[in-house]
Amino acid sequence: MDTEKFLGIFVNPIYVQNEGIQQVFDNLESVGAKAICLVPRVARPGEKGKGRRYPDLHMDGYERLVARPVWGKREIYLESILAYEPNLSLYEASPYRPVAGSTPTGIDREVPDAMIAEAKKRGMQVHMFLHPFIPPGIRAEDQPMYVDGSIPQPPQIVLNACLNSPAAQAYGMALVEDAMLRYSGVDGLFTDWAEYGAYRLEDHFSCLCPHCEGKAGEQGLDWDVIRRDVTALWKWIHSLTPRELERSRRLLRNPSEILELLTHYPGWLYFLQFKANTVVSFYRKVRQFLDDLDLEAVGLSARGWPPPWNRSSGMDYRALSEVCVAVTPKLFTFDYSALPRWYGQTLLAWNPELAESEILDTLVEWMSLPDDFERRSFANYHIPAPAELHPAKVEAYRIRLDEVAEQVHGKALCYPFAHAYLPEPQWKRMIAVIRDSRVDGMWVQMYGYLSDQKLQILRELWK
Ligand SMILES: [Zn+2]
Repeated sequence: MDTEKFLGIFVNPIYVQNEGIQQVFDNLESVGAKAICLVPRVARPGEKGKGRRYPDLHMDGYERLVARPVWGKREIYLESILAYEPNLSLYEASPYRPVAGSTPTGIDREVPDAMIAEAKKRGMQVHMFLHPFIPPGIRAEDQPMYVDGSIPQPPQIVLNACLNSPAAQAYGMALVEDAMLRYSGVDGLFTDWAEYGAYRLEDHFSCLCPHCEGKAGEQGLDWDVIRRDVTALWKWIHSLTPRELERSRRLLRNPSEILELLTHYPGWLYFLQFKANTVVSFYRKVRQFLDDLDLEAVGLSARGWPPPWNRSSGMDYRALSEVCVAVTPKLFTFDYSALPRWYGQTLLAWNPELAESEILDTLVEWMSLPDDFERRSFANYHIPAPAELHPAKVEAYRIRLDEVAEQVHGKALCYPFAHAYLPEPQWKRMIAVIRDSRVDGMWVQMYGYLSDQKLQILRELWK
């Protein structure tokens, strides 16, 4: 099938370090990639305890392996370093500094520069990928706060800062300036994890930190009502009965009941609106900042949780489409394979008298992750092994794509970020679902999960 839809691929520079730049770009060109996205980092093999496992375990992906080996291995410990010398004077407004360190011998820090040059030579766009809200050595006072006053405790997929923390935001803006001036020839920027969390059930009850309270006040939002209604749901969810679980499922079939609840607990609407305002205002600030740095040509892409989680994470794609050139909701089905258990175990801990299967039936329905298990148990939900089918049907993602495309309504491009860590039959279906949906193209996360067979599938179904 011939299609003009956009295709971008996230390529970690370690693959150029391993496979060589021509091999990597020949592969990218062969599938019709029109853009690459990269992190400004390089690496070398490390040791357990010193380096970091690659690929990342994401809390419980113990069997997770990359498809394309690095230094001969599909799981490896890597020592990763910044590919550029940070300009520390830019970070003076923040207590945080990037960790530069000295360059170990045997690492070519120019690899990202070479990738940018090669992509340009082949007519591909280049997008930079940064983490503005993951400052090294994050302090407790900059972390999101749950409604009960506690903060996220490890293990977490990521320990990131509240977007309204001035210290974290100063670090994030300095990082953007530092990296984007260093790599000023790139076409686009992704600021990853610039949103509120949703990996844990508690995350939906953040952030009520003092920084957020102050910002909400500036926006004229009634923080007392927000706190009152977020607390009401927190209490309700800690005292569930089977009947209440059934009632919550009934709401999905009877949406006017949800309206009735929100009429009486409007603090939840203000809360979601506040989180969306926070994310959108960060993107606006970055946009203005890039313009002020004479980087008007750098397009912003908004990458975050897809529906339904984005409502709580603050990724308001409708509003972001006015600031960004593209919105890129993540279709990371391996994480969503584990979410019913991650949320479910928390619910069970809070409500020990509930049945595991009832909890899971409810969560799967609420998150719209339909699967074929007859009697659901926590053992069904984990980050799958490389060839293991993911429980939710791939088709369940089509409705999310259509929803985002309609919200964006042509004001920005809609390129979902499809994660290639899923078995080949589901990879085929995912490509077909995205290709045949209303979106304008897709990004693939990431080259390392594209085995030669998966590249071939992409070539056949997309190009
Ligand atoms: Zn906060």
